[in-house]
Amino acid sequence: MPTSAPITQDVLTIPRKLPEGDKINLIGLTRDALREALIAAGTPEKQARMRVNQVWQWLYEKGVRDFDIMTNLAKDYRAKLAENFVIEIPEVVSKHVSEDGTRKYLVRIAGGHEVETVYIPEEGRGTLCISSQVGCTLTCSFCHTGTQKLVRNLTAGEIIGQVMLARDDLDEWPELGRAPKDETRLLSNIVLMGMGEPLYNFDAVRDAMKIAMDPEGISLSRRRITLSTSGVVPEIAKTAEEIGCMLAVSFHATTDAVRDRLVPINKKWNIDTLLEALRAYPKLSNSERITFEYVMLKDVNDSDEDARRLVELIKGIPAKINLIPFNEWPGAPYQRSSNNRIHAFADIIYKAGYASPIRTPRGEDIMAACGQLKSATERARKSRKQIENEAGL
Ligand code: SAH
Ligand code: SF4
Repeated sequence: MPTSAPITQDVLTIPRKLPEGDKINLIGLTRDALREALIAAGTPEKQARMRVNQVWQWLYEKGVRDFDIMTNLAKDYRAKLAENFVIEIPEVVSKHVSEDGTRKYLVRIAGGHEVETVYIPEEGRGTLCISSQVGCTLTCSFCHTGTQKLVRNLTAGEIIGQVMLARDDLDEWPELGRAPKDETRLLSNIVLMGMGEPLYNFDAVRDAMKIAMDPEGISLSRRRITLSTSGVVPEIAKTAEEIGCMLAVSFHATTDAVRDRLVPINKKWNIDTLLEALRAYPKLSNSERITFEYVMLKDVNDSDEDARRLVELIKGIPAKINLIPFNEWPGAPYQRSSNNRIHAFADIIYKAGYASPIRTPRGEDIMAACGQLKSATERARKSRKQIENEAGL
């Protein structure tokens, strides 16, 4: 069993009420919460179901942010909505476009904090990498976000708002009733691989993903949403049951000694405990396979022996191993493994019968690649000592 003190989460949630007046933001409310809010604002219960459907379609199928445009609602009802509610998504402060087409948005949320959202266009699909927290409580020693303290959890509205602002930028709100198929969308996939540990902000992440999957709105299939966790074991079964999306796990090492250093949450839930939870996931969520993410760090976790141990460990779990060449950031204590090493590692895994794609770093020129995200303006830094202690360096 793990030996170290538990890693606590310092969760700060902000109320849904906005600073100006008592208006509630409709973005981020689940269907049930929207129903309650509409009834509280005077919608007769008998009409509530219909009103929820109407408002929902305007918000999530058409991307409308102005009550006046909701023309299938009576004028006085629209006025009532405007008195009680606002429709707000986070603001894009700046956008950087990489040579390879990757777009990085710096996004400002309530309180003046900032997170990053990255859009990655690929052949036949487009993936949006979204953030779930400002900073992170965890201190994975190879991750830039890990050097920044957790400032606060994002609300469901701020999480789904990232999808909506990317759709605005991509000009991808379809005509009502004509949602394109997933395969032809510019934004066809979501990965929760931006800043933060999504399973330490479970409820907001779940609500936001429910909105993304709702068939009458953004309508992305659960198979096109991948949640990446560092290994918050107690929340893994809940993810299967309450979200049902695809799961990726930041595995990164094949012994507890090395994983303790790279992903310090391993001291709380070690490799065996994690694997046990992962074994149950595909059945619980009815999904095909789990993605094991494995960052390639020179002379740390990249030997042939590591590759063989990895294959042994995951035996019996339907899996794909995604090898991520380490993305450097200023002051990072590691180096990327050589291409030859990464290919030799991939080969061993492939020969054992697993897909072992090597992730092409995207948007490196704009610091948008995996693990490079960090708000340039957040001043709350973890001390070097805290990072070293938790990483056992
Ligand atoms: N907190 C979650 C999701 C965000 S990180 C998690 O840890 O899974 C998304 C992925 O990028 C994780 O697999 C993470 O380990 C990896 N990553 C972090 N820093 C990286 C870096 N500098 N280079 C390559 N991958 C990195
Ligand atoms: Fe947090 Fe994930 Fe970075 Fe670890 S890898 S510090 S869990 S964002």
